[in-house]
Amino acid sequence: LDNFSRETARRRAEDEVERLAFYDPLTNLPNRRLLHDHLKKSFANSGRTSHHGAVLFIDIDNFKSFNDRFGHAVGDKILSAIGGIISRSLRQVDYAFRYGGEEFVILLPETPLENAILTVERIRMRIADEASSSVPEAHGSRITVSAGVACYPENGSKREDLFSLMDSYLYKAKSMGKNRVCHSFTQDL
Ligand code: GH3
Ligand code: MG
Ligand code: MG
Repeated sequence: LDNFSRETARRRAEDEVERLAFYDPLTNLPNRRLLHDHLKKSFANSGRTSHHGAVLFIDIDNFKSFNDRFGHAVGDKILSAIGGIISRSLRQVDYAFRYGGEEFVILLPETPLENAILTVERIRMRIADEASSSVPEAHGSRITVSAGVACYPENGSKREDLFSLMDSYLYKAKSMGKNRVCHSFTQDL
């Protein structure tokens, strides 16, 4: 190999290592590490009053039961289908991440809570309408998600506070019966 080819091969290997480290191969979405990097940057100057936006936490409902009934490979297809619906539902400026097993985090920059709720409701409905038919191996079982929404600066401006709030709204959505979105406007039943 000449020096040029060797250098090209090295760069390709580095790109591949970076892709594996920061992107989830199942959904092609960036992973939690890239989310943390991104949040560090975007919250660095959140002291500015003009800085606002929303964070969404989406979790698949009863996902374990899909794995149990149809197998892990079908579970993987469901994850990938939902990742696709999420990606196609966002603006160019938004960011979606696969946060963990069956959990996604979405950042909507410069978005007030009302608009963030509309976006996440649209995603929730699309998943309920389309996910099942895009994975025929799930035999028509209803596939749904629940979500929690928090916005800054209204609900807080510290990353940790927003995440724990978003998490508690997700928990609320689950306890209110799933396939729903909760946020600071949600009325208690
Ligand atoms: P809930 O409605 O309360 O969210 O219930 P759940 O069953 O979705 O939640 P739970 O946390 O009990 O189960 C999550 C499951 O997700 C368990 C784990 O086996 C599965 N899981 C996590 N990552 C993957 C993955 O990459 N592929 C597949 N097929 N399953 C995964
Ligand atoms: Mg979960
Ligand atoms: Mg779940």
